[in-house]
Amino acid sequence: MLFTTTIKLIDYVFLSFFLIVIFVSNANCQQTLVANIPNIPNIPSIPNIASAASVASSERSLGQTIKYPIVGNNPFPLIMGVELEKVNQALLLAKELTKRCECDRALQDYGVESLAQLLKSEVNINLFDGRTSTLGLPWMSENKKRETVNTYFLKNQDWLWAGVIQAPFTGKGNVIFLNHYFFSPTKSVSLALEQRSIILIHESVHQFGNKDDNHFGGSKRLTNLITKACLPNLKIN
Ligand SMILES: [Zn+2]
Repeated sequence: MLFTTTIKLIDYVFLSFFLIVIFVSNANCQQTLVANIPNIPNIPSIPNIASAASVASSERSLGQTIKYPIVGNNPFPLIMGVELEKVNQALLLAKELTKRCECDRALQDYGVESLAQLLKSEVNINLFDGRTSTLGLPWMSENKKRETVNTYFLKNQDWLWAGVIQAPFTGKGNVIFLNHYFFSPTKSVSLALEQRSIILIHESVHQFGNKDDNHFGGSKRLTNLITKACLPNLKIN
């Protein structure tokens, strides 16, 4: 009895703390408008590689025992110099954007209470350059060799701007890898910073929200939901 009561008391205390956190979190975002930002063309879909887990289980079902992570020479290439500045500026803008309530709560209907709280990506800690990463992915490529982040990113660079590789395949938690487009956008170059910020917010939903694109009706839809709430003057057709 005493034990049950204690548990209930602990639950109550925890719940109160939780409510305070939520309240504080909501109180932190601000109802202000951002400056007008001109239109940019459609932002293509930015998938995560969430289907990897199902591929891995099919490998196991064939009787193979494959141990992850498969790292190669350079699984987590560091981002440096000018490119490091680009990522840091985009992270800063993403943090600024998510201070506004409209942006912070963009995915509230989908169970994401605060985008700001998901922005925990840190460059060269859980966010790396995917273009040269030798980290093994849980499937084989057409030439029967192990697919790696860099080979997969190169062949899909037209549409794959960034991706999250899940913890079982990195050995160090969910990790964001950036692809070529992130560093050198070919569309609306003057709005590269805004595009990068949307990409980072999108990927943080996968990385720390643990929700895949399907949860939001697809990758493109997730991008649209974020963009409409966070950069409302940015028209996406
Ligand atoms: Zn996605």
